[in-house]
Amino acid sequence: MRQDQEDPYQRRSARAYAAADRAGSRSVDSSAGVLYDAVLLDRDGTLIEDVPYNGDPEKVRPVPGARAALDRLRAAGLRLAVVTNQSGLARGYFSAEQMWAVHARVEELLGRFDAWLICPHDDADGCACRKPAPGLVHAAARELGTTASRCAMVGDIGRDVAAALAAGAAGVLVPTPVTRPEEIAAAGWVAHDLPAAVDEILRRQQAVQPVTAPGDPVRTALVVRSDSAGDVLVTGPAIRAVAAGAQRVVLLCGPRGRAAADLLPGIDEIIEYPLPWIDSTPGPVDPESVRSLTARLGAVGADQAVVFTSFHQSALPLALLLRMAGIGRIAAISDDYPGSLLDVRHRVPVGVPEPERALSLAAAAGHRLPDGDEPVLRLRRDAVAPRPAELGDPGYVVLHPGSAASSRACPPEVATRIAGALTAAGHRVLVTGGRDECGITARVAAAGGTDLGGRTDLAGLAAIVADASAVVVGNTGPAHLAAATGVPVVSLFAPTVPFGQWGPYRVPTVRLGDAAAPCRDTRAASCPVPGHPCLSGVDPDEVVDALRTLAVTGGGRR
Ligand SMILES: [Zn+2]
Repeated sequence: MRQDQEDPYQRRSARAYAAADRAGSRSVDSSAGVLYDAVLLDRDGTLIEDVPYNGDPEKVRPVPGARAALDRLRAAGLRLAVVTNQSGLARGYFSAEQMWAVHARVEELLGRFDAWLICPHDDADGCACRKPAPGLVHAAARELGTTASRCAMVGDIGRDVAAALAAGAAGVLVPTPVTRPEEIAAAGWVAHDLPAAVDEILRRQQAVQPVTAPGDPVRTALVVRSDSAGDVLVTGPAIRAVAAGAQRVVLLCGPRGRAAADLLPGIDEIIEYPLPWIDSTPGPVDPESVRSLTARLGAVGADQAVVFTSFHQSALPLALLLRMAGIGRIAAISDDYPGSLLDVRHRVPVGVPEPERALSLAAAAGHRLPDGDEPVLRLRRDAVAPRPAELGDPGYVVLHPGSAASSRACPPEVATRIAGALTAAGHRVLVTGGRDECGITARVAAAGGTDLGGRTDLAGLAAIVADASAVVVGNTGPAHLAAATGVPVVSLFAPTVPFGQWGPYRVPTVRLGDAAAPCRDTRAASCPVPGHPCLSGVDPDEVVDALRTLAVTGGGRR
């Protein structure tokens, strides 16, 4: 899969240019529940002031606060690597010796880095390491004894963030005056300077660790996540954290999230109920029905409840019912004043990925992921249905044009052109969609691909996704199924909600679409802008290029 392993120039350069002292490159122990092992940093414009094609150590100027910020990362046990494009080597503007003199000066001023990863190529070389390709990020993770998904990459331009995402790492953009507005709009995580980026990395790392000593062991935990399949899937890591600290876990979910709940590990029993203050098409509040829900929740005998919500959903109406049901310890995120409804009132800044937001609530309630359980989305192996044999070998591309919310769906005419372009590029395409999307999937598949519209339930779709080389999909449930099965995503992401919160989590991803479109942050369920411009401008060739960036070729994934 990793092109850089096959590229002799890069392999040589990564070795020759890696820091001489390899004492630091032993394997990192995977500590329980830790989000990051390492932070990767771009050089020019991020660590030091950008002096174009600089071969002179005297011209090295660190950005303000860099040394102290890096020392905070070192003190927290994080490994550090510099990951930098230096096309001046290819162009002959400076020699490798001059570059190393510059790097020695950088280490003099900023302290030692555990690895240096350099791309010596030019754009015209078409290498796998020059950012935005993910090769250097993978190579850095390897040098540091970890994986890209356990790294955060900090940089000042879109290429840095794109390389991070394409490797499955977190990408943090610290804009400078040369950063383009569209790069800032597309980044899921933006910090105003390097120290602020470092502080937020450390804050997020800390936020998933329980602060309180474990209290009485939890016999039965009631966890709650209403809303749709994607919402339930992104809560999976937090539910596993609770399950690690409780003997029994009962999940309350809504009917639209039930099929996803059936796929998640760690749940012993499911109660299904459409909470009218959460559901997007709520029915009336029926007092008798709410009374019987309260009685049923009381009968669970939970000694703790953890109520997961997303931003703008309120946990408080349910917290009142849980109080009435006699549950003694209730934890939830609430910006609104909860009075005596919550025992743990947790707050999370906007922009944190939903899985981490939920993990931080689980931590506030005293739980964390156990040793060896990575903070990634996962599915129960036994719940994923076998893939129909007639679909042939793994290695196809799944194109899923629809979405539960039309504002986040790919326009059918764009999906149709994508299907044609993918087929022309030699990809085998499977077009998937729900029963209500069969008209669209048939039309799209007619341009190239096999129409599977309406032929799968969620478990069946999970099986098909799991054997794909990549999934091309909007911001909707199947993107999270891909993340949960480790399959790369070409994300046709309508910016109605923040990409940093809802983008595919910890899986190689290329984001496409206009991140600055007027629908941005509207949370609209149907597109408020004529012509659905955020996705109607996606060029099918961009999708083909994105697959190449993700190392997915017509013959499958390399
Ligand atoms: Zn390169």
